[in-house]
Order: sequence, then C-alpha cells, then structure tokens
Amino acid sequence: MGSLKGKDILHGNQFSRQEIDAIIRNAAFFEKELKTKDSLTLLRGKILATLFFEPSTRTRLSFETAMQRLGGGVVSMASAESSSAAKGESVADTARTVSQYADVIVIRHPRMGSAQEAADAAPVPVINAGDGAGQHPTQALLDIYTIRKELGSLKDLTVAMVGDLKNGRTVHALVELLSLFEAQLYFVSPDALRMPEEITSHLRQKGIEIVETEDLMKAASESDLLYMTRIQKERFPELSEYERVKGSYVINGEFLNRLKKKMTILHPLPRVDEISPEVDTYPGAAYFRQVRNGVYVRMVLLAMVLGKR
Ligand code: ASP
Repeated sequence: MGSLKGKDILHGNQFSRQEIDAIIRNAAFFEKELKTKDSLTLLRGKILATLFFEPSTRTRLSFETAMQRLGGGVVSMASAESSSAAKGESVADTARTVSQYADVIVIRHPRMGSAQEAADAAPVPVINAGDGAGQHPTQALLDIYTIRKELGSLKDLTVAMVGDLKNGRTVHALVELLSLFEAQLYFVSPDALRMPEEITSHLRQKGIEIVETEDLMKAASESDLLYMTRIQKERFPELSEYERVKGSYVINGEFLNRLKKKMTILHPLPRVDEISPEVDTYPGAAYFRQVRNGVYVRMVLLAMVLGKR
C-alpha cells in the first residue's frame, strides 16, 4: 500500500485493481471506526484546502467532514466570486498560492483540464472534485464502494447508465473503474447526449461490451444496477437545447412496477426530476446511502495521498 502517497487524483483511469481493493478495504475500516468514535487522529495537524469554483453540496461538505473526522483542519473557498479568481488570477497561481497554506488541495472548476493545471503547479497533492464535463474520480470511487456494499460483489455486473452521458463527468470516471471489473454496460441517453465517442471506443478496445440505446425499460430489464444522472443544464450553450432533452428519463413507482424485478438505483445527486420522490422508500434506492459512503471513501483518499494509509 501507500502507492498513492504524494500523488494527485485526477482521472478514473489512473487506478489499478489493487488500489481500488485497498480503497474499499480502508473505507470499510473507517466506516467501522466511526460507528464507535466521533473522530480519529490520523491526520492531526494536516490542513486540507477546498477550492470550489462551481456549486457543490456533497463533494465539498463530505471532503471537509472527512478531513475533520480524521482530526485534520480545513480552509475553504466556496465560490469563484469570493476569491482572486474574480480578479483574473489563473488556476495555476491559485494552486501555487494555496499550497503554501495546505497539505492537500481539493479543486472543482468548470473547465476541463483545470485540475491537471492545478496539479502541475502545486507541490502538494491535488484532488480533482470535478473539472467541467471531464472527470470526477472521487465520486466514481465512492460509487464503486457503494456498488460493492449494495450488491455484495463487483464481478459479472451489468450496469445501465442513464441520462446525460455526454456532459456527465461522474459517468466518465465511473466507466473507467467498472472496466477494470469487466462490467457489461448499457448507455441509455437521448441521441444528443450520447457517451463521447473517444470513451466508448477506448472501452471497446479494452474488451468491454457496450450497448447504446434510448430504451430505458429494455436496458433496465437486463441490468443489475441503474445509475441515473441529471441532464447537465449548465453545460448547454442554448437553453432551448436543454428544454428539448430535459425530462427524457424518469424513474417513478409506475416504472418500478412495470419492471417487475429487484433493482439497485444510484444517482450522484443532485436530482432534478429523473427520480420521483416516491422511489426513495424503495429498498433498492441507494442514493442517500451512497452520499454517506462518500465520507468514508474521501477519508481514505486524504489519508492515502498524505501517506498515512
Ligand atoms: N454532483 C455531480 C457532479 O458534480 C453530479 C451532478 O452535478 O449532476 O458532477
């Protein structure tokens, strides 16, 4: 172990099976520890900086919770408007500056490639918490931990990913991890929001079986897991284009009745209208358990890049 010590976390494709196994093992350990203790002391004296140039509820608060549960401290910048980015400072200069204060940086930014720029500039580990429509690797890792817990295994899975596969950074990262476990994938989206060609062709080259379809019921009836996503309104150049595809797929009670089989449902959240609130009490609706798992997985990632795990 310790292979992530001093490293940046930027992309779903950077992990090996062994690293994922270690992350799952350690997350389960922290989950157990927090059942009997409010906080640990592993990262006492260390400081995390969270730099969020785009809105966030779960990612920022769960990273900050994770650091505090490990006994570390947090400094935070919650919006671009409140920082020198508003005066025209570059991401690289901000990252260089913040690394004078903090031992690890978590960054979210609307531009693809920005986390890499921060990592290139900062001497401390940088964790990508979402770079535009690019990647969101820590979400993908907490998704994998959740799938492992909910389904008991990561082997022989058929997963249907549904919604905005073009702009959704969580699915871009998650397919990389699922490909290590040879999952079969259904990509369910309107034609305008299909998974980018470079991602599907790279997965197919790795031998991953992919079916692209607009038919949610067909994909769901052949899958173990539905991974729902929000149509990413903020990535559309024209509101009219968003209006045309919004509400394309909705999971509700009637859908689950027609499906006639047990189903696990994940969603990185926030949801808009793609999962009706009536689904929340369905036993397979795991998206709020998924939120909680984010804390354990982010505890592991902070501990690992700081060489304490
Ligand atoms: N919270 C996730 C993200 O930041 C998913 C979403 O916003 O739809 O990518």
